[in-house]
Amino acid sequence: MDTLVICPKCGKSNRVPLGVARKSPICGNCKTDLPLHGAVQEVDFARLRRLVEASDRPVVVDFWASWCGPCRIFAPTFAKTAELASDRFVFAKLNTEESPEAAQAYGIRGIPTLIVFKDGREVDRQSGAIPETAFVQYLNRWA
Ligand SMILES: [Zn+2]
Repeated sequence: MDTLVICPKCGKSNRVPLGVARKSPICGNCKTDLPLHGAVQEVDFARLRRLVEASDRPVVVDFWASWCGPCRIFAPTFAKTAELASDRFVFAKLNTEESPEAAQAYGIRGIPTLIVFKDGREVDRQSGAIPETAFVQYLNRWA
């Protein structure tokens, strides 16, 4: 199982194996540490756009903020589901405090908000923390 991670320094997309190779992954081009935690990568606005363009799998993005209680409740569900479903999806988190321009560009009104991108465009979004079973069922619609 692997995932696609956009380098924060040079913008190259890296295919990173998941599972066995759990050491901190680096960019194959510029050797910068890639912001991948488990099976979830951090993105900002620019990296999110690159990721959505580069990925051949649907991209699932969690728009969140550190002050948001429901976001903290949902985070482990997102991380765990990412571990199980990275063969079908690419999982990313976007901090709306650090990238307010992204939240504005995507019209994020409440957090957490999940957006699913497929073939380079948004196909669905859902707001609020949802339980793991509901999240998995939700994802199965877009696999
Ligand atoms: Zn790089």
